[in-house]
Amino acid sequence: MKYVEEFRDSAKARALVKEIERLVAVIGPNGRPIHIMEVCGGHTHSIFRYGLEGMLPKSIELVHGPGCPVCVLPMGRVDDCVSIAQDEGVIFTTFGDAMRVPGSTKSLLQAKADGADVRMVYSPLDALAVARKNPDRQVVFFGLGFETTMPSTALTILQAEREGVENFSVFCNHITIVPTIKAILDSPDLRIDGFLGPGHVSMVIGTAPYAFISSFYKKPMVVAGFEPLDILQSIWMLLKQIAEGRCEIENQYARIVPDQGNDAALNAVNRVYELREFFEWRGLGSIDRSGVRLRKEYARFDAERKFDLPNVRIADPKSCQCGEVLKGVIKPWQCKVFGSACTPETPLGALMVSSEGACAAYYQYGGLKQSQAAE
Ligand code: SF4
Repeated sequence: MKYVEEFRDSAKARALVKEIERLVAVIGPNGRPIHIMEVCGGHTHSIFRYGLEGMLPKSIELVHGPGCPVCVLPMGRVDDCVSIAQDEGVIFTTFGDAMRVPGSTKSLLQAKADGADVRMVYSPLDALAVARKNPDRQVVFFGLGFETTMPSTALTILQAEREGVENFSVFCNHITIVPTIKAILDSPDLRIDGFLGPGHVSMVIGTAPYAFISSFYKKPMVVAGFEPLDILQSIWMLLKQIAEGRCEIENQYARIVPDQGNDAALNAVNRVYELREFFEWRGLGSIDRSGVRLRKEYARFDAERKFDLPNVRIADPKSCQCGEVLKGVIKPWQCKVFGSACTPETPLGALMVSSEGACAAYYQYGGLKQSQAAE
């Protein structure tokens, strides 16, 4: 398959690893590993799926960032979803991986088992189709994700407006990547030497919004694709910058990511949403201007305005260390409940739910064995 097989070539991967080892030797020891954060959960998944971490020199430590939107959804927002879904007049539609995220009392899947009409969809347009077919019910779509999914939700709202569909609304939990990276860079317990930038988000926003990372924080970033050679090449590009004393925003994924972003998607985003003053992230707390809501012109499509929500802030269970994993302070298998009280079948924290969650990736691709070996 074009653009897939050639990015999985094992001989080229070995050659890249050799080049990475050479650059690590040029950079030399500085008393601690080189910390590289992959911002995006899709990268985390690829890194474990293809065993890339094990191919790298020990002096490179990959830190798994907060770029899995399901993983950073706070319990209180899940409770809000359950509350909407339990309204008898509502059909609640959502992507499948959000159904198992634990709320304080139940997940959407459990709400469905208890009788709520919760339906899995593959896109917001599917949810709009459900609304057209059920004019006597309120159909709510759970809008979730970074800039990658924001445009499709916005375009669906614009479509609903054009068609005059009045029984469709969005529970908007879309979040935005730039303030999140800034919060990570401002975090005192993090020492990141460079970033693998998110490929899908950048397809929409381009590379220019990351300029502050190199100009102000003096950290390099390489926007990376998701195949094994993409990731290894991006790590090599980052190390090359460090070895040469450069600090730039580079684009390894240029076959997909235009530096200027996608105008049509950005226009839809700017038309429909505005920034919230702050948004709560699981494990990271409240981050200023890191989420969006619907503009008042689209209030009739806004589930937060249509429904009374509990809107309560719920702390994670005490045994849950998702926040420390999200900030890269501990590895997933170092969480006290990893593989025991928390597994993909019975997730205690959201990082064990989505395939892009670091804990689920570790569990699925051998991290459990690593954890047991370490004990
Ligand atoms: S093992 Fe479970 S509780 Fe612990 S950090 Fe991972 S998802 Fe959170």
